[in-house]
Amino acid sequence: MRSRRDFIKKSTLAATGSFIASSTFGHFIIGKKPKVIIIGAGFAGLAAAYYLFKKKIDFVILEARDRIGGRVFSYTTDTSEKFVVELGAEWIGDSHKRLLQLCDEFQLELIDNRMKTHLRYKGQYADPLRFEQMKDKDWIEKWEQLKKAYAGIPENKRDATFDYYDWWRYLKNNGCPDFDLDIHELMDSTDFGESIRHLSAAAALSWYADPGLTSTHNEMDKKIKGGNDTLAKKIAEKIGMENIIKNDAVVEIEQYPGKQVKVTCTSGRSYYGDKIICTVPTYSLKKITWKPGLPMSILRGIDELQYARINKHAVQFGKKFWGDDHFDMITDDQVHYLYHATIGQHPEKGVLISYSIGDKADLFGWNGKNDKWNTTLLGEALSPGFGDITNLVEKQWNYYWGNDNYSLGSYAFFKPGQWKRVQKELNTPFINTHFAGEHLAGWQGFMEGAINTGEEAAGKTG
Ligand SMILES: Cc1cc2nc3c(=O)[nH]c(=O)nc-3n(C[C@H](O)[C@H](O)[C@H](O)COP(=O)(O)OP(=O)(O)OC[C@H]3O[C@@H](n4cnc5c(N)ncnc54)[C@H](O)[C@@H]3O)c2cc1C
Repeated sequence: MRSRRDFIKKSTLAATGSFIASSTFGHFIIGKKPKVIIIGAGFAGLAAAYYLFKKKIDFVILEARDRIGGRVFSYTTDTSEKFVVELGAEWIGDSHKRLLQLCDEFQLELIDNRMKTHLRYKGQYADPLRFEQMKDKDWIEKWEQLKKAYAGIPENKRDATFDYYDWWRYLKNNGCPDFDLDIHELMDSTDFGESIRHLSAAAALSWYADPGLTSTHNEMDKKIKGGNDTLAKKIAEKIGMENIIKNDAVVEIEQYPGKQVKVTCTSGRSYYGDKIICTVPTYSLKKITWKPGLPMSILRGIDELQYARINKHAVQFGKKFWGDDHFDMITDDQVHYLYHATIGQHPEKGVLISYSIGDKADLFGWNGKNDKWNTTLLGEALSPGFGDITNLVEKQWNYYWGNDNYSLGSYAFFKPGQWKRVQKELNTPFINTHFAGEHLAGWQGFMEGAINTGEEAAGKTG
């Protein structure tokens, strides 16, 4: 996950002069330049399209959902306050250079979304100052030494050195004390979406110990005012909404060397072109019928790769009882991690999001649960610090990514032995298809990574 080491190797686009035939149903007009079919209107697909648009290369985006943005899912509440909450991607990191550039290009306003972390642990509450004091000073020092040692290992040797075991074991072996280890489990599993006992130590180190990272807040720095999906909308406007076909999932891809590709959707419409950029998560990739079939290495990668289970439960409160706009709280309860999700949106009211992961997310996402159950859990987690807040709850919304029709999870999660190897397998072009998406990125699990891979794939289609 999230290594900055992979730089985008953009190849120069050159018009191949290939001929595009339009199908009976197709949207294409006969032309001279290569025509690219992009599957998915998430950040990878939109970034690819924007890259091609600038190079004056024809493209069409085919999107299964009735909206663009994919796992960037900004939701406007159906309450009179019309809060905008992120049910998918939330934070933009200071190290996310390309994303920040695009925000700048489209003149999007960024909000300071850095948090001051409170703790609820074994029934006790600690404010940010107390929480800092509870951390073991020797371990903080040791961790700095470990990071230095990691930076001293040649980049091409780091993964092999640490990819054979999990992050929890790495910390334990290196003397992390019990309390700090529990905190690592709670906080790092929030980043990765599953328990750190399942997470490759190589993936974790590439994230927490990479010497080049510039964010001091773990890449939890900013978000886009009005919703992160504003960037998706701005790109779509620029490239032309008419070039994005929504509500039509790709079901079949036919491609043979030297021939045009044919892409067929649930509507029965077929689209013809020269190249394909496929940005869908692996769960969706597997559901498409490929003619000829995908190679064994890609199929294995699809079967191996898990996506982390994350549940986002947004709760509107009649009063911001937490006080500080930059409030967040890590808990060892079911609600797992809580943060203020509506900074700057209302003077008195606000929305807290409970962000739970792994098994905890599964329970939250389970349909049998209701608002009352959720409110009780939330109340229990917050009561040591803030008393009974359940009477302040006004409305709540839930989105469970573990059930999502297209990704069956939030973002890819790499177990020991998978980091880089699986990415390589899944990132191998297949006939006329290039693959993209966060799961293939150096900045894996981030909007930045999705954009990087989309642009990289677009650069290869010429
Ligand atoms: C809960 C959660 C929290 C997150 N937090 C952060 C964060 O704080 N910061 C951050 O930077 N990132 C975060 N992310 C990750 C970020 O959202 C993703 O890395 C990024 O949005 C992935 O973009 P993508 O284009 O690769 O994939 P997607 O956004 O999934 O785009 C793929 C698109 O393909 C479409 N599709 C699927 N199958 C088909 C088909 N057969 N035919 C046509 N279309 C199809 C999908 O509908 C989707 O729109 C979070 C994600 C989640 C879910």
